[in-house]
Amino acid sequence: MDVFMNTYHRLPVTFTRGEGAWLWDVQGKKYLDFTAGIAVNCLGHGYPALVKAVADQAARLCHVSNYFQSDVTAAFAEKLAAVCAPVGMKNVFLANSGAEANEGACKIARKYSLKKYGPGRHRIVTLKGSFHGRTISTLSATGQEKFHQDFGPFTEGFIYVPPGDIDALDRALDANTTAGFLVEAIQGESGVIPQEPAYLEAAARFCAERDILFMFDEVQCGVGRTGTFLGCEAYGVKPDVVTLAKGLAGGIPVGAVLAGEKAASVFQIGDHGSTFGGNPVAAAAALVVLETVNNPVFLGEIARKGDKIQEAIRAWKHPRIQAVRGRGLMIAVDLDAEAWPILEAAIARADGSDGKEHFVPERFVPGLLMLSAGPKTLRFLPPYIISDEEIDGGLEILKTILG
Ligand SMILES: *Cc1c(COP(=O)(O)O)cnc(C)c1O
Repeated sequence: MDVFMNTYHRLPVTFTRGEGAWLWDVQGKKYLDFTAGIAVNCLGHGYPALVKAVADQAARLCHVSNYFQSDVTAAFAEKLAAVCAPVGMKNVFLANSGAEANEGACKIARKYSLKKYGPGRHRIVTLKGSFHGRTISTLSATGQEKFHQDFGPFTEGFIYVPPGDIDALDRALDANTTAGFLVEAIQGESGVIPQEPAYLEAAARFCAERDILFMFDEVQCGVGRTGTFLGCEAYGVKPDVVTLAKGLAGGIPVGAVLAGEKAASVFQIGDHGSTFGGNPVAAAAALVVLETVNNPVFLGEIARKGDKIQEAIRAWKHPRIQAVRGRGLMIAVDLDAEAWPILEAAIARADGSDGKEHFVPERFVPGLLMLSAGPKTLRFLPPYIISDEEIDGGLEILKTILG
């Protein structure tokens, strides 16, 4: 592991394969996955239609660059715009990650404002506790002090306001200086914190009145995660710009910036680009995700399973659990102590390897993969295809570990 730069606190488990909501490590031990690779493998591991689409596309055509057109990339972009049309989205820029998508959104806000109002109106307002990525500019956009060390000078022009404080937002969204407001409908990394409806309604009003772009970072909470295709749909507000990434191609890297009427023609030829953006293999995978997830029955199941998890945990009235919150399959559980030892214990319990590579279900005591979101908060982002039995089994494991 010394070959890796020391950027991640990795848990001591090495995976070799996955199927549905399960992963197997190099010793053949199995683990139930409540993480979906941080909201990425939304259809689980080895989803047959996705595997086939990726394999077929890889055999047909992997990459052509954006100097040319690809049939599958065009089909993906059309489908994505159509899926997001109900919230007013019109067109799409394709990238490869969440940070890159948010960079695109910030560039759109800056140019929109510059062309219409001239220089000096470039500020982008974000929330305290937000997370928008790891590039220099998306770190600037991220409203958490701990990220604002060591890497300065940062990109100028970002200011942070406390979530829920409508007066502070009113002051920050100054029509003379501000180009955009970037917000997660549900803040993921800082603890699965949904915005209050009145707050987003006020934000929508301020942005519309002052011609400030209302931009949703849906990188984690989008693509059905919360039971609606976009997290912002549950609030009935209409964004000007939406960014997506994590779950969009079900495990293949992709990012997207969508723009509505106001911002759809801000980018002109040469304004922005990405060598890999719209990669055909990612596009083929994303088409499967869109076709599967953007379905009222499928989305309803995400909401139902999420409610089931929250209700089950509340019913325990466990002394170590302080709160449960979230929407759909994006759930946080606040503990009375550090979350990390729980994550480790849930992995360490996996046992029953008989030394062979083959999977024999009865002989395995499964582990459970969970995430944290803050020091004392567990976060669950299971794949949408997780079954009721798997949910029950996973919660049983958690209960056992909590003691
Ligand atoms: C993960 C995340 C990002 C960054 O995405 P990357 O693909 O890691 O660049 C940005 N915004 C939110 C809300 C995220 O959860």
